[in-house]
Amino acid sequence: MQRYLSLILMILATMALVMAISFAVREKNQGRARWYMLFLGLNVALWIGGHGAMEISIDYDMAFLFRVLSLLGIAGYLLTLSLFVLHLIGNKSIVLRIILVAVSVFDVVVYGHRMTVIFTTVDGRVTYYGIKSFGRIFHFFFIAGIGILLIFCALVWLKKVKARRTRKCIRILMLANLVIVVAIIPDTIIPMLGMPAFPSSDFGAFIAYAVFWYYSVNINLFNIGISNLTTYMFESGNTAILVYDSEKQLAVANEYAKGLLHIEDDQQNNGLEALFHLSQEEEDDIFETTRQEGKYSINLRARYQDTPCSFHSSIVIDKFGDPYCMIVFLYDRTIEEKMKNEVIEANKAKSNFLANMSHEIRTPINAVLGIDELIIRESTEKEIIDYARNIQASGKALLSIINDILDFSKIESGKMELVPVEYHVSSLLNDCYHMISMRALEKNLLYETQVDEKIPSVLLGDEVRIRQIIVNLLTNAVKYTPSGSITLCASYRRIAKDKLLFVVEVKDTGIGITKEEQGKLFESFQRIDEKKNRNIEGTGLGLTITKQLITLMGGQIEVESEYGKGSVFRVEIPQKICSDIPIGSFDTGVAETKADYKESFHAPDAKILVTDDVAMNLKVFAGLLKRTQIQIDTACSGMECIEKLYNHSYDMVFLDHLMPHMDGIETMRKWKKSQSAINKDIPIIMLTANAIEGAKEEYLAEGFTDYLTKPIRSELLEEMICRYLPETLIHRAGEEAKEPLDKTVSIEERFPFLDTAQGMEYFAGDEEFYLSMLQDYVTENREAELQQAYEKKDYETIRIITHAIKGISLSIGANEVSEQAKQIEQALKKGDTVTAIACYDEFVVSYHTLIEQLKECFKANDTA
Ligand code: ADP
Repeated sequence: MQRYLSLILMILATMALVMAISFAVREKNQGRARWYMLFLGLNVALWIGGHGAMEISIDYDMAFLFRVLSLLGIAGYLLTLSLFVLHLIGNKSIVLRIILVAVSVFDVVVYGHRMTVIFTTVDGRVTYYGIKSFGRIFHFFFIAGIGILLIFCALVWLKKVKARRTRKCIRILMLANLVIVVAIIPDTIIPMLGMPAFPSSDFGAFIAYAVFWYYSVNINLFNIGISNLTTYMFESGNTAILVYDSEKQLAVANEYAKGLLHIEDDQQNNGLEALFHLSQEEEDDIFETTRQEGKYSINLRARYQDTPCSFHSSIVIDKFGDPYCMIVFLYDRTIEEKMKNEVIEANKAKSNFLANMSHEIRTPINAVLGIDELIIRESTEKEIIDYARNIQASGKALLSIINDILDFSKIESGKMELVPVEYHVSSLLNDCYHMISMRALEKNLLYETQVDEKIPSVLLGDEVRIRQIIVNLLTNAVKYTPSGSITLCASYRRIAKDKLLFVVEVKDTGIGITKEEQGKLFESFQRIDEKKNRNIEGTGLGLTITKQLITLMGGQIEVESEYGKGSVFRVEIPQKICSDIPIGSFDTGVAETKADYKESFHAPDAKILVTDDVAMNLKVFAGLLKRTQIQIDTACSGMECIEKLYNHSYDMVFLDHLMPHMDGIETMRKWKKSQSAINKDIPIIMLTANAIEGAKEEYLAEGFTDYLTKPIRSELLEEMICRYLPETLIHRAGEEAKEPLDKTVSIEERFPFLDTAQGMEYFAGDEEFYLSMLQDYVTENREAELQQAYEKKDYETIRIITHAIKGISLSIGANEVSEQAKQIEQALKKGDTVTAIACYDEFVVSYHTLIEQLKECFKANDTA
């Protein structure tokens, strides 16, 4: 019997040892708790093992030794437990710890003394009787003292912690150790009564340790441990976990998976196909890819309720390198899919809104700009033309806002395309200048241009986008400059024979940008110094679009700025050179004249039908083509268009997109089905205000030959007509026999004092236009004004007049006068009146002579 008892004790000791070591090995992230648990277990093992060994000792010396070992275990257990609990309640007292260690050692020394017990053998089992001694009494108080300390600490701890699981654990710890106290009673008291000791406390110690161990592992007592975490993860409330064996059959599923996929308990032996909408091949593919690559992710739909799931599998390889199982983590994507659908819907709504908005806004602007263009062409009053130009500038600005929004969405979706065309640099810069001049003037800002005269005059590039970039920078310069000046500088750097870097700098003396914020400048919707700029309109999109466009063209943008002093935005864009002739002196006034309209061809025999429900648009269309002499017929509905197409022969048709009753596309479809004998294959062009990406493909697919965006730009309209009208109907400008003013004498001979080649270059080779400008030069003689200002010593007026004469003289080829005017203007700009006066007389004589010579020439022509 006693042998069984000692065997049981040895087994319990071994179990405690295994539990202690396994905890320490596995729970690596439990910090100090891991070591306390290890020492508790080791001491319990020593305690129980010592007693077990003592009972089967062959002599009393050996029994004494094992009893001391067992006592070491008891004192060690109580000491470790006290230190552990002190640690858990956050007590840091070193003194208390030293006392505890000293008392424990002392207890082993005094109670372990041979004189405290008498060994005896009962039924072949070695046990002992207690002797009344100091050691025994001390041991009793030692245990009682530790017990009180533990109860006290536990109560403090209980008060401190909030988590219910920890409170429960404290209670369990107290109860478990109560088991020891209860068990110690027979163990300690019985020998005191002179009876042989029974190792009941050993069982109590084991039970206490086992209970504490269990809760440490299964309840989140200390830190998060691997054991409890694994359970938690498996039971996770929002992740389905499926485990497939090497036969591709479902082996394990957690509760969440069972709910999500509706897996019955008796239905577990199934493949993936049973749970998801998958074919056999797809199932095999998932297993195979997971096996080969170690992991696999896919979005799937569950068979149950068609739930969208995101499926992530990984393979577990056994110690022999073979696949052991496939673990699948599955997330319910219902909410995500709902949100995605909402986003798609919202995006669709946004696109529709953009399309509609662009149409709604472009249509009236079309009418306004069209009529305005007619005013500019047909009015002879300078004031009216000025007003009309202002309307034009604002209309274009409004268009640019719509375009900004459209551009941003295009760039965002990577659909922005560049359209390279040949363009005149001076005309581009002039446009940029004029689009901003009113705003600069309104803010009383000095607006200057510094243009390198040697820039090649014609370049190849996306003129519209380059204009947009420069205007964006100029707009910002005006917006963020409360006073002072803004300057537009243009220059170039040749990088190949036919290529250059077009360099544009926009300088301002405005609020500037701090170094830190310069980095954020080109991010979308990013506005800097929001507080200071709150009254300035802006979306924070301008610079983003600017930068993206420049990058798209292969160029770059840099900013140099000093907070409070001003900024310089420098842009470099590679462009191809089409004409090497330098642009010459850039004068905004001259360029303005140059930008005036001139039709590019005549086609008096061509007949075009244009259809639009808005009568004003028809009028604009006809007006824009008036000088080309094309015969224009109009229809104000799709029905009327078809009727006219049946009955009259045309060379080309323009058809508006949005019309009531039957829109452009329906009209087109109906016409295509018709059996008409005439107008079968004529070009049909769609007129649309819908500039959204993808529209072009849609129109071409419907059978339209091409499309033209509203507001219609006359040069694009003429270009389109030229492209699709039969060549025989078109007479290019310059082809028609012009009525020269002097039929016998060439222009060079008539004006030998002018550089007529340069003049003709300025007026695009149009002799008639050039001659009319020469006449204007005479009519706008400024001699009297100059003289008046000179007499009044009004140098500012002289500067303004010489500035104007400088530009216009250069454009007609009067280089000497231009140069002299420039000298005076520049001297006055610097405040150098002495030089100005010194040059004045010579200039006035040259200017007067030039005007007289011109008058003579015209007189000679009139009399001829
Ligand atoms: P916004 O529509 O706000 O003008 P932008 O993208 O054009 O958007 O500019 C972004 C921000 O950069 C502006 O809000 C402004 O704070 C700053 N910024 C741009 N240009 C200048 C400038 N010339 N001087 C000072 N700050 C500027």
